[in-house]
Amino acid sequence: MPVFDKILIANRGEIALRVIRAAREMGIKSVAVHSTADVDAMHVRMADESVCIGPPSSTDSYLSVPALVAACEITGAQAIHPGYGFLSENAKFVQVLEDHEIAFIGPTAEHIRIMGDKITAKDTMKKLGVPCVPGSVGGVPDLDAALKVGAEIGYPVIIKATAGGGGKGMKVAQSAEDMETAFRTARAEGKLNFGNDEVYIEKYLTTPRHIEIQVFGDGKGGAVHLGERDCSLQRRHQKVFEEAPGPEIDPKTRAKIGKVCADAIAGINYTGAGTIEFLYENDEFYFIEMNTRLQVEHPVTEAIFGVDLVREQIRVAQGLPMSFTQDDLEVQGHAIEIRINAEKLPNFTPCPGTISQYHAPGGLGVRMDSALYDGYSIPPYYDSLIGKLIVHGRDRPEALARLSRALGELIVDGIDTTVPLFHALLQEPDILAGTYNIHWLERWLDENMD
Ligand code: ADP
Repeated sequence: MPVFDKILIANRGEIALRVIRAAREMGIKSVAVHSTADVDAMHVRMADESVCIGPPSSTDSYLSVPALVAACEITGAQAIHPGYGFLSENAKFVQVLEDHEIAFIGPTAEHIRIMGDKITAKDTMKKLGVPCVPGSVGGVPDLDAALKVGAEIGYPVIIKATAGGGGKGMKVAQSAEDMETAFRTARAEGKLNFGNDEVYIEKYLTTPRHIEIQVFGDGKGGAVHLGERDCSLQRRHQKVFEEAPGPEIDPKTRAKIGKVCADAIAGINYTGAGTIEFLYENDEFYFIEMNTRLQVEHPVTEAIFGVDLVREQIRVAQGLPMSFTQDDLEVQGHAIEIRINAEKLPNFTPCPGTISQYHAPGGLGVRMDSALYDGYSIPPYYDSLIGKLIVHGRDRPEALARLSRALGELIVDGIDTTVPLFHALLQEPDILAGTYNIHWLERWLDENMD
């Protein structure tokens, strides 16, 4: 295993800064890559070196494998950190890097492949003793088979594209009458977005919370869990507010499901950070998918355990042991993250533009991960996430009070953002009490955002 003195970050925005910061603290130099639309981006300014890898379209830049490999060769970077999104869960990319002897800061191509296909992932997890949502065994080839599964497990059901992600390729059928449309739409979305029309069917849970377990493996059969995050506040299956620990999860439950997850990834010699996602209803966990990368919401876990997950990723990618054991990991307080998007309410219309003034909140227990600066022009080509505000307190009420205070300090002028949504949510008794499930936000938006 090589020892890295320079790594390339195949990403942009706040996550590129996140990785540059971890590398710098480890004495490792960083290389930023950027499209022509991102010449003035903060990650380019902050890295030790930068390479332009193509035009604005991400297909021709951040997703261009030849350009990334060439950038490593030009700069002498020995490894690539993929961040999240873009190529972070692309097994072929990881394979190409292996062929070029460039280290990938993440799991093996094989693990990404297994977990990237949701049917295979579910099957693998089931065999490893992880509880799953009841549903079809493997793929469902046609409408007749789909109706049979529906009759067996009972409606409502959800039809999911095996290659799906980011909330795409999922359709609910409330009854047998809905099945034909839902089945065809899920297949079509799978084909259109992921080039794969295979689908499977699950029981649709009506009041679950989204609880995910952060796991970390050393690639040599050693693994730990870092508790859960509750990411139930979602819009169109996309998370907007995350917290750790989960308001409904007690230490005993955490230890039990955490051990199941850590044992599962130890059983496959998993390397690096991963997240095992569950729906949680009536005190039961149901596996839905595993993400084989760092998640957007990882900072809430870092806050309550006092660890740097990116540093750990870089360590294990060099063949070094993890810097903590399960016994070292103890929950300290409560953390909340909100995702701030450049979007105009009430329709969440993307709203790129120039930032006339930016002021980040600070003070005890406040972390602002953002690549914004005064005068920065947000290009229209990429994701609308412009910042993550993370707060940490001794308990949930303190974290909520801190979030409210920090939001009051934040200034993002010149564009519309989703900040007003959070001001409003922090007035809601259900948010203050932590009593919400995955459908709460959609319902609230319907009632409050006309
Ligand atoms: P993606 O890969 O697109 O993120 P997931 O399988 O992780 O898809 O599901 C995303 C979200 O969709 C979940 O957090 C949940 O809100 C909803 N969902 C997925 N499966 C079910 C199910 N069986 N019942 C109810 N909701 C579900």
